[in-house]
Amino acid sequence: MAIIAFIGVGNMGGGMALNLVKAGHAVRAFDLSAGALARVVAGGAVAANSAANAATGADVIITMLPAGSHVRAAYEGDLFAAAGTDAILIDCSTIDVATAKAMGEAAAAKGLAMVDAPVSGGTAAADAGTLTFMVGGPAAAFAAARAVLDQMGKAVIHAGGAGMGQAAKICNNMILGASMIATAEAFVLAEKLGLEAQTFFDISSKASGQSWSMTSYCPVPGPVPTSPANRDYQGGFAAALMLKDLKLAMAAAQGAGASVPMGAQAEALYQLLANNGGGAADFSAIIKLLRG
Ligand code: NAD
Repeated sequence: MAIIAFIGVGNMGGGMALNLVKAGHAVRAFDLSAGALARVVAGGAVAANSAANAATGADVIITMLPAGSHVRAAYEGDLFAAAGTDAILIDCSTIDVATAKAMGEAAAAKGLAMVDAPVSGGTAAADAGTLTFMVGGPAAAFAAARAVLDQMGKAVIHAGGAGMGQAAKICNNMILGASMIATAEAFVLAEKLGLEAQTFFDISSKASGQSWSMTSYCPVPGPVPTSPANRDYQGGFAAALMLKDLKLAMAAAQGAGASVPMGAQAEALYQLLANNGGGAADFSAIIKLLRG
């Protein structure tokens, strides 16, 4: 059993923290939202009155915050100072690669073990403990973080040095954003040509058009009964979060001098969807925009 400080127990962090409670750890939670804190306290976590108090004396410090600015403020403002020299620092938020690298390097300079460990999988996977973690950081920090990540996920993969977890996450989601648009376009074209959606699915899912966007998250109702299209695009992975990840990918590409024309187009289309009021819907609702 370890003492675990969990900073940011919102939609994702709440379920993750509760899985650590279930695994037998003493979880000290801190969040600016009383509602978010109440959920995890009801499940057996102890509420801390500040991030620093949660982290002082903890074996593991986990953050699950909205964006890079929150993560930088939390570590530079409180957590680096409060962390004991043997503590393991794990940032699970999805943030920009540059901030993740900077935080990893700052931790290393202070002699602290830190990894960036963003997740794939939504709130259902966070609740069920079936997330996939993409981890960046020194091999020793990865080895130390692995046991606790295993208790919140189904796969924990070392991607490389500091920031490489975030790099893997945004590169993966750039494929996902672009492939969903391509899939949705194809279903709209098939429809306009008079080809049944189910028939097109039966063919393309077994041909070279196959992708996760088609076979797990099919943007039309019917062929994949569990896809968000069957519940009018409610739940699932919000278009606003896809847009966030695409913006992170575009910023990283600019910094690295990479050409990402398809990713840029995907960002523009998800921005349009969000501007049209579709940010809360699942990202496969991009098909509505394409239908016109
Ligand atoms: P959320 O807004 O539900 O949770 C974030 C929590 O952080 C909130 O409860 C907020 O009050 C708290 N917070 C903000 N600043 C704080 C501070 N300084 N100190 C303490 N608490 C603070 O967001 P979420 O959906 O849980 O997402 C968290 C991260 O996970 C994001 O980076 C997101 O991109 C990523 N992510 C989300 C999903 C998803 O499906 N929701 C999937 C994968 C990754």
